[in-house]
Amino acid sequence: MDFDDTPEDAAFRAEARAWLAEHVGPYKVDAERGGESLVFADVEDTDYVERGRAWQQELFDGGYAGLGWPKEYGGRGLGISQRIVWGQEAAAAGAPPTINIIGEGMAGPTIIAHGTEEQKQRYLTPLLRGDEIWCQLFSEPAAGSDVAAVTTRAVRDGEEWVVNGQKVWTSAAHYANFGILLARSNWDVPKHRGCTYFIVDMHAPGVTVRPLRQMTGGASFNEVFFDDVRVPDSQRVDQEGNGWGVAVTTLMNERMSIGTSMGGTGFGYENMLEDLHARGVADNPHVRQLAAQIYIESKCLQYLGYRAVSKLMQGQIPGPEGSVAKLAVTNLGRKADKFLDALRGPGTMLHDRYTDMQLWIPAMAIAGGTDEVLRNIIGERVLGLPGEPRVDKDVPFRDVPVGTLG
Ligand SMILES: Cc1cc2nc3c(=O)[nH]c(=O)nc-3n(C[C@H](O)[C@H](O)[C@H](O)COP(=O)(O)OP(=O)(O)OC[C@H]3O[C@@H](n4cnc5c(N)ncnc54)[C@H](O)[C@@H]3O)c2cc1C
Repeated sequence: MDFDDTPEDAAFRAEARAWLAEHVGPYKVDAERGGESLVFADVEDTDYVERGRAWQQELFDGGYAGLGWPKEYGGRGLGISQRIVWGQEAAAAGAPPTINIIGEGMAGPTIIAHGTEEQKQRYLTPLLRGDEIWCQLFSEPAAGSDVAAVTTRAVRDGEEWVVNGQKVWTSAAHYANFGILLARSNWDVPKHRGCTYFIVDMHAPGVTVRPLRQMTGGASFNEVFFDDVRVPDSQRVDQEGNGWGVAVTTLMNERMSIGTSMGGTGFGYENMLEDLHARGVADNPHVRQLAAQIYIESKCLQYLGYRAVSKLMQGQIPGPEGSVAKLAVTNLGRKADKFLDALRGPGTMLHDRYTDMQLWIPAMAIAGGTDEVLRNIIGERVLGLPGEPRVDKDVPFRDVPVGTLG
């Protein structure tokens, strides 16, 4: 990859920089806020959601939403290098990340890959415009890493499906308009073959959203209950029983979007490095060592992200490199945590601009696939090591001794 701008990229950079300078002002990321609240809003933080929607609307109107998406669905159809240029310029200008991270990073790409034309026409443009926010309804109390073991039940009733069950960890459900749902529609086949994927209206009768309080003090994820929720068959994505294949597209996009979104400037490493001087610890060899390591790894991660996105833009579905990038983000987060302890010293006990970020770092090793599960994927699919024993692989889900509520 040549990192110098082509004439077209240079022209796009100038255009993007000028547009950002004019529009980002009222939306500029507040460096005093922590990492978590930059991604999902807490239940009390309705103002943040409204600002996020307004910023998304500005991006859409300016032609900067869905840069890589097809034009017919509201995107701009740009190539990889210009998306990278945009990321650099947006970060440098202090632009906030999208409020619709699940919509733009996961639900949208999945609908583009697997949805009907009617679904694409209905959902993609309002999603990009920020009019409709999305959440992801995959994890359950007994199906997280093993998400193919979901027991939320979808039963066909004429032209509708009736959904019953419980989801958990559902980020943004308290302000989402739609959710992407993985549910079990067949208990008589092995777990991966009995799932179906739906788009669910989060305000449909029978959907209950309850925020969960986290150790950060905020509540950005929820438990969600489905009691006889009726979902039209037109909101099924792909064939009945093909839900797992569709979910894999979502999960790969999730890991890609986590792995590629935090390696640049978005996670505040620049602030930390500036603070080295402000707090008078720039000469401390231990702190310097940690700072240098963080800088090197954040740069490696940035280029790893470029490589993965480059593959995506060549028309290939993101593969295990998304898992590698996500694991690298988590490792970097842990180092940043240590660095911040060294930087803040006894001040770690007080609340400052790093508190939320530090309290959020442990969650990074769980959300979007735990470290252990990602290492399994890398071991099997990148390194070609023998697979884990999977005793339930060919057994009808009804006969598996876990999750046999059917
Ligand atoms: C901040 C945050 C936001 C989230 N947002 C969402 C969301 O919006 N929507 C959604 O659907 N989910 C969401 N999740 C859920 C997330 O995807 C799950 O927490 C994750 O997949 C792990 O599942 P679990 O919590 O059930 O843990 P478990 O799967 O029960 O794992 C428990 C422990 O066992 C280990 N383990 C499990 N299986 C294996 C194995 N095969 N080999 C080795 N070790 C293993 C795990 O690594 C972990 O340490 C979110 C999670 C977090 C932390």
